[in-house]
Amino acid sequence: MILDEVLKANQEFVKEFEPKKLSHSPQKKLAIVTCMDTRLTGFLEPAMGIDRGDAKIIKNAGNTIVDRDVIRSVAAAIYALGAEEVMVVGHYECGMANVDPEKLISAMKARGIPEEILSGVDLKEWIGAIEGEEENVLNAVQEIKESPFIPDDVPVHGLIIDLYDGKLKVLVEDK
Ligand SMILES: [Zn+2]
Repeated sequence: MILDEVLKANQEFVKEFEPKKLSHSPQKKLAIVTCMDTRLTGFLEPAMGIDRGDAKIIKNAGNTIVDRDVIRSVAAAIYALGAEEVMVVGHYECGMANVDPEKLISAMKARGIPEEILSGVDLKEWIGAIEGEEENVLNAVQEIKESPFIPDDVPVHGLIIDLYDGKLKVLVEDK
């Protein structure tokens, strides 16, 4: 099991680690909505100059706002934790831009998900497939800004990162 590997790594980690208390409020007063892509782990933060304790980072598949959960987390970051700026950060070559619903359906069927569950939904929509990475960031920014739960005075920016060279491109600079 991968769990054993993780627990072993944790034992080593704890031995070396010097504990320190950090505030739960983001020191940079920033909330980030980004993708769960593995290649962003340990990469996006240094590329943005963010250290432990600096920002609230909300991740999902494709940094999309398909349900209330992202808005809920952004709202908590703003109202409860003092975030003053929001950034949606997408990346090129996102797996969610290449979702093949046929493949998805057969993979789910093969793992025992019943036919009637799969026939009742638009799987591409359900999984949150996106058309294009840049367009997806623009949509997410728009949806956060339009949410009645997000105050108008919080800027919501849209950015996209290149996974090879780490360069960030600004797609929306909010005032
Ligand atoms: Zn992605």
